[in-house]
Amino acid sequence: MIPKDTSQSTVQKSFFDLTKKFQVILMNSDPDFAVEIANLNKTYDVKNGEPKRALKDINLSIPRGSFFGLLGPNGAGKSTLINIMAGLVIKTSGHVRVWGYDIERDMRQARSAIGVVPQELNIDPFFSPREILEVQAGLYGVPKKHRRTDEILKAVHLIDKSDAYTRALSGGMRRRLLIAKAMVHSPPVLVLDEPTAGVDVELRQQLWAQLRELREMGTTILLTTHYLEEAESLCDTIAIINNGELVTCQPTREILKSFDRKDIIITVSRPLDCLPEQLKVFDAEIQNDRDIVFRIKSSDSGIERVISAVAESGLGISDITTQESDLEDIFLLLTRDEPK
Ligand code: ADP
Ligand code: MG
Repeated sequence: MIPKDTSQSTVQKSFFDLTKKFQVILMNSDPDFAVEIANLNKTYDVKNGEPKRALKDINLSIPRGSFFGLLGPNGAGKSTLINIMAGLVIKTSGHVRVWGYDIERDMRQARSAIGVVPQELNIDPFFSPREILEVQAGLYGVPKKHRRTDEILKAVHLIDKSDAYTRALSGGMRRRLLIAKAMVHSPPVLVLDEPTAGVDVELRQQLWAQLRELREMGTTILLTTHYLEEAESLCDTIAIINNGELVTCQPTREILKSFDRKDIIITVSRPLDCLPEQLKVFDAEIQNDRDIVFRIKSSDSGIERVISAVAESGLGISDITTQESDLEDIFLLLTRDEPK
């Protein structure tokens, strides 16, 4: 069922003002959390097969105003989770609130509070961007005089393509059009399912800029991705899910800090069979005959100790490189399947 948004106001202002305005109208006061999920489970019935537990007891709170990344490998349950928020998939048990509204009890408000950009580029190719936005606004019951079609088209940099056939738009333009479509009813929460999957580097940068702009306008943004770089560069908070389970949810900075590890790789001047005695106090190992890899905490000033210990052991140093752990290492570590 498509929600009729009865909360549309009478104001025609800038995109920024409107985004803020609607948040107030929807809730009267801003909730602390844009989305709250408690003990959420989803099991898909599979014909002639084992039921599939796609989400297992998920508890998650997404702060208002955050740029939130839901990260996980394929099949982790990301789309299931956001489709439940959007009312596209029915949960098996648990509770979900969007902008303070229960998705079952206050379904209309909950749906008005969220805009979803789906994973697939499902746009009718025979309509123009303007027509697509007008139809969508109609579906959400936004009265004609309150529609912001031009504003939104400007905001996603598609105003000069307003009347072009959508089939003539590039992939990146279609993605932006989908973002625009999700914004017609001015939802305070925008959810994007893998917005840059299969998108080339330049386009990805454009989309990132777009999303940062929307965020600055006050929109809470939730995106799913399996690109770690994307989550690391855009998101202030990251949740990692794997096999339907929440593995961690922390501010991006904290996640990176909690895996505070640095490798120092010292290439010595002659091949080694085993580690010299003096170096056995370190967490170190030999790689490729002449590289000794030392694992230290990034926050330590261990590098000096390592270098002088290597020098004292009588080994000549021909090269030194360092490597900080990044989100990729952390992700691999956290989503590594336990041996069964
Ligand atoms: P992600 O978006 O992280 O790739 P999904 O939420 O799409 O993961 O899928 C999670 C799991 O649920 C996968 O194992 C997937 O095969 C299964 N799944 C998703 N949709 C259905 C469905 N309609 N019927 C049965 N199983 C499904
Ligand atoms: Mg998915």
